[in-house]
Amino acid sequence: GPTIGVLAFQGGVIEHMTALTKAAASLQKDITIIEVRSSAELESCDAGLIIPGGESTHLSRAARECGLLEPLRDYVKVKRRQVWGTCAGLIMLSEEASAVKKDGQELIGGLDVRVHRNHFGRQNESFMTNLDLDFLRNSTATNESSSSLPFPAMFIRAPVVDKLLTAAKTHDAEATPQEDAPVEVLAVLPGRHASNKAAAAGELGPVSPEGAGDIIALRQGNVFGTSFHPELTDDIRIHVWWLEQILS
Ligand code: GLN
Repeated sequence: GPTIGVLAFQGGVIEHMTALTKAAASLQKDITIIEVRSSAELESCDAGLIIPGGESTHLSRAARECGLLEPLRDYVKVKRRQVWGTCAGLIMLSEEASAVKKDGQELIGGLDVRVHRNHFGRQNESFMTNLDLDFLRNSTATNESSSSLPFPAMFIRAPVVDKLLTAAKTHDAEATPQEDAPVEVLAVLPGRHASNKAAAAGELGPVSPEGAGDIIALRQGNVFGTSFHPELTDDIRIHVWWLEQILS
């Protein structure tokens, strides 16, 4: 069956594998789930890859040391395989990151956005909040009894997307439809967390016209990202949804 990998340097590796296993069972799909630390392992992930949270500076250093940084870029941006980054994984999948260390930080890229690292502050400002995730509505992950249940979202020194870079892109006639895939904002954290510098400076972009919040879930073609950690709760609806998107 199809193989899905979890980049296994640090973070919620086991938790993602467990959630994927449960999600596949609930969809009655037969998938193989592997840990990825080498380009050979990455190569075998024909169906997709999850990049978990942790520390993005550490992730990019580990990937570089294992000779995985270029293969990961190739996987995401040339082969255009399916990838999902949670938290530090979302940072890795963004084209730009702010609040990085002085000597910079290498990213994989794939999402035409800028992320703001540690947007909500330090570890002790981590929080859990209930989100209404409209994108789950059409999923079999969402049966009648769960359709109105909010999703328990765990934010741990989380990034948010504070700028879309696509607006500046000129149309390239050579681009394949995939390369033209727009950034789809899937969830915004409303209200109380919106008082960030980018929003105040009007840099939040057209997706949030009333400055309504921070982008915390998005997709662009084959790349999906969440600021929060669905693998750290036992709500598998997002894992089920993602499997539905990538296994057709
Ligand atoms: N703050 C971390 C970083 O910048 C991400 C935290 C997380 O993945 N929970 O990489």
